[in-house]
Amino acid sequence: MAEMPFIPFTRPDIDPATIAAVGEVLASGWITTGPKSQAFEARLSELFGGRPVRAFANGTSTMEVALRVAGIGPGDEVITTALTWVATANVVCAVGARPVFVDVDPRTRNLDLDAVEAAITPRTRALIPVYLAGLPVDMDRLYSIARQHRLRVIEDAAQAIDSRWRGARIGAIGDLVSFSFHANKNLTSVEGGCLVLNSPEEALRAERLRLQGVIRSGSDGMDMEEPGGKFNLSDVHAAVGLGQLARLDAITRRRAELAARYFDVAARAGLADLGIELPPAAEPDTALTNWHMFQVVLPVERIEGARAAVMQALRAQGIGTGVHYPALHLFKFYRDQGWREGMLPHTERIGRAILTLPLFTTMADTDPERVVSALARAVMELKP
Ligand SMILES: *Cc1c(COP(=O)(O)O)cnc(C)c1O
Repeated sequence: MAEMPFIPFTRPDIDPATIAAVGEVLASGWITTGPKSQAFEARLSELFGGRPVRAFANGTSTMEVALRVAGIGPGDEVITTALTWVATANVVCAVGARPVFVDVDPRTRNLDLDAVEAAITPRTRALIPVYLAGLPVDMDRLYSIARQHRLRVIEDAAQAIDSRWRGARIGAIGDLVSFSFHANKNLTSVEGGCLVLNSPEEALRAERLRLQGVIRSGSDGMDMEEPGGKFNLSDVHAAVGLGQLARLDAITRRRAELAARYFDVAARAGLADLGIELPPAAEPDTALTNWHMFQVVLPVERIEGARAAVMQALRAQGIGTGVHYPALHLFKFYRDQGWREGMLPHTERIGRAILTLPLFTTMADTDPERVVSALARAVMELKP
């Protein structure tokens, strides 16, 4: 029998027109931040209902600048989740503030908003919700908590381009909203990101912090009031982003179709009976995910090394998987600050057992079935 082709857990989907557009930028004589980057910002602003948008080199610098725009600094506490990429909390440390981790809701795998409320102290200045796999948190409740306690919200929407809350696109609503266009995200500019802001004043500050803090005036005037980073997006990257943005509807639709197939084959294969937890299904009236990832939680609680064994078994069948994410508060840096096992039980359990299955637009319609049957077999073979 012919070898089955390898299915990675994700794969970028760049169309020929976009590849041609990159060649045009390279040949144009202007390759770093310029007209393409501005056009990308303008298109993103349209997508987010006309709100000010600034493009960045990546989705980490957007978050750092967002925290600075919000005035977060030394002595401040920022409440967030530990079931996320390290970047979410790294940027809090980068501005001199302290991340305060609270547990996740085991169903949504996003911030538990009861836990958020309970963690608020007089030092709390901001909340960072993370939309894991693209699923928004309960935005009504999140913003009601923020208003009540006068907190800024910096949404880590790195994974949530084209996700919706009550029909509104994430980014079109909310306070400061940050997206990533990393190669693995639904919409990529290879590396890149954007920040959605509230006013022209905030946007101007973000623009300055994006490029060394430099303020230009007239033909030759230059000043600097506060040092910034080097976070601008090149026109080569922006050309890739523009090409992807033109296809965003199709990208989101295809991912939803593949997720629906996963649910269908998972039900037929009886994954739930094997103790495998599926992601929450789409809730179009409230939280609608963009299906950035399709993640299962494995029944590996009492079996040492079981997730690694499942990953290896799938790899042997030509199926790539990923781990997003191990519980962040158990990394050495946070342990050294007193974070311990048992403090965030749901985050810890999910962090040990979560597995990202392949999901990308160019997957074959039959791939979810192949993945699910291989997964079911691998889990059945686990020995306690
Ligand atoms: C990708 C990602 C980031 C960081 O984005 P980069 O573009 O890689 O800097 C931050 N938070 C989350 C949740 C992400 O998935």
